[in-house]
Amino acid sequence: MDCLFCKIIKGEIPSEKVYEDDLVYAFKDISPMAPVHILIIPKKHISTINDIEEYDESVIGHIFTVANKIAKELGIDEEGYRIVSNCNKNAGQTVFHVHFHLLAGKELITTLG
Ligand code: AMP
Ligand code: ZN
Repeated sequence: MDCLFCKIIKGEIPSEKVYEDDLVYAFKDISPMAPVHILIIPKKHISTINDIEEYDESVIGHIFTVANKIAKELGIDEEGYRIVSNCNKNAGQTVFHVHFHLLAGKELITTLG
């Protein structure tokens, strides 16, 4: 499948790995929008949030446990962070493999829309 993030998971495209387990892979965003900008993705290819099915709930939930583990390891859990996931055109999704941006390291702009 011609998916950038599937290739990153397989190691066919290099990435700066932050965390990996059986279900999830996390790596540094190539174009950071904040001092900490990590992408957390399911290893299973899911194109958009619209394609998440009930049987994906465990992996999607697990992503948030991984996020707080990463936040604690980086020492940003108390000062705070933001998790963002974009779906399709109006949200600006550019890579069609579901991913969660973990942003931190500064006071983030508070407007969401
Ligand atoms: P989105 O716009 O929500 O689909 O987010 C896609 C993100 O993937 C952007 O923040 C990009 O900077 C990031 N990105 C694209 N290519 C790579 C790559 N090869 N390695 C790491 N991050 C990437
Ligand atoms: Zn993929």
